[in-house]
Amino acid sequence: RSSVVSVAPILTKLQKECATPLPVLRHVADAMTADMRAGLVADGGSDLQMILSYVDSLPTGNEKGLFYALDLGGTNFRVLRVQLGGKDERVVATEFDQVSIPQELMFGTSEELFDFIASGLAKFAKKEGGKYHLPRGRKREIGFTFSFPVKQTSVDSGILIKWTKGFAVSGTAGKDVVACLNEAMQRQGLDMQVSALVNDTVGTLAGARYWDDDVMVAVILGTGTNACYVECVDAIPKLKGHNSTSGRTIINTEWGAFSNGLPLTQFDREMDAESINPGEQIFEKTISGMYLGEIVRRVLVKTAEAGDLFGESVPEKLSTPFVLRTPDICAMQQDNSQDLVDVESILYDVVGLKSNLNARKIVLEVCDTIVKRGGRLAGAGIVGILQKMEEESKGLIYGKRTVVAMDGGLYEHFSQYRRYLQDAVTELLGSEISKNVVIEHTKDGSGIGAALLAASNSKYE
Ligand code: ADP
Repeated sequence: RSSVVSVAPILTKLQKECATPLPVLRHVADAMTADMRAGLVADGGSDLQMILSYVDSLPTGNEKGLFYALDLGGTNFRVLRVQLGGKDERVVATEFDQVSIPQELMFGTSEELFDFIASGLAKFAKKEGGKYHLPRGRKREIGFTFSFPVKQTSVDSGILIKWTKGFAVSGTAGKDVVACLNEAMQRQGLDMQVSALVNDTVGTLAGARYWDDDVMVAVILGTGTNACYVECVDAIPKLKGHNSTSGRTIINTEWGAFSNGLPLTQFDREMDAESINPGEQIFEKTISGMYLGEIVRRVLVKTAEAGDLFGESVPEKLSTPFVLRTPDICAMQQDNSQDLVDVESILYDVVGLKSNLNARKIVLEVCDTIVKRGGRLAGAGIVGILQKMEEESKGLIYGKRTVVAMDGGLYEHFSQYRRYLQDAVTELLGSEISKNVVIEHTKDGSGIGAALLAASNSKYE
């Protein structure tokens, strides 16, 4: 078995199936637009949930006063306070703290978890010092970022659909998570109130908009992926009876669930079938950080089985799902050395593969194929959102500067991926329109964004 002869067809087939030439990108962007439209007509109308955020007013920069944010989205929760000084003074002061959630609380009762959070918040609030001032007669207001699936019922309430990301807390599903937090705060004797319950993408949009009025879309590309954008209320048939004074509202697309027209391979289908949520989150499984490394690993298993490119047998390490992580792919792609010494050591240390230079070059080809597809499809998704917005207000998106705020570790750290994403957007929009579309990293906007949304949705204004 000659390695080149047996491996070349696998690579060629992979590249062919993962290819994202302009017609494929256009098809994906159009399908995203169509699915968004269908999801706005009725709940369950498409793969995209198109969740109403009830956030109708975005930060303007004029916000003043003391606000808190609480962020629960994984194994840590973060608390933050910010003193806002209005147009000129902006962020006068800000402080934050992070607390990790003990493992046992992830499997405990709702009361235990929320008591722990409320007591962490109470401790943080107690340390409020000199620069922070609360006007007399007011309660401290909180923007609560809660990154689990919630059926939002108003800007300051929402029912937990289910816990995800390893949480199995009993007694929260079906309840209003703001009420759960309020009750826990009462038990702690903590006199604060939640003024805005927000998804992390919505927080990111708000945080970015505070500094730049042209921000219309926010996208998270980290372990998972999601996007939100500003929509006209007239374009939302399912928004019955909700009045927005601004005529606009933010929609949380939950675009990770998108699946139409994606170029998928045997490796994607097998990964999906063996996942904890088969058939779900297909777009997320194709473009986000949790999965890119795993897809590459699956290709390498097949490559190792097919020939002697990496020696006689498939190392046990390589057979372990998720051992090869997206940051490893990124590090290999950044290897500029002639002999690809970093690729060599990562392959050996992480997946137990001994490689010659030829094998390392093939591995890099595989990485590039998967990363390129991911970045370009993410770009097509963004164009799908922009197209949807342009449809509602002709010229108001493409005719002027429009900013897409990006956050998440994948986007932040992976320059190759970023470049592929940008290339796809430019190809799809053409060079003229894409000059107006600015895709910009906003780091950690979501924490301050939630506090800003508490301000713009304050109970006292
Ligand atoms: P999360 O999405 O888990 O809330 P982040 O936004 O920080 O948190 O994203 C973390 C994810 O970003 C990781 O799971 C990984 O997939 C990706 N990531 C982190 N560092 C890198 C890197 N150097 N190169 C590529 N991807 C990275």
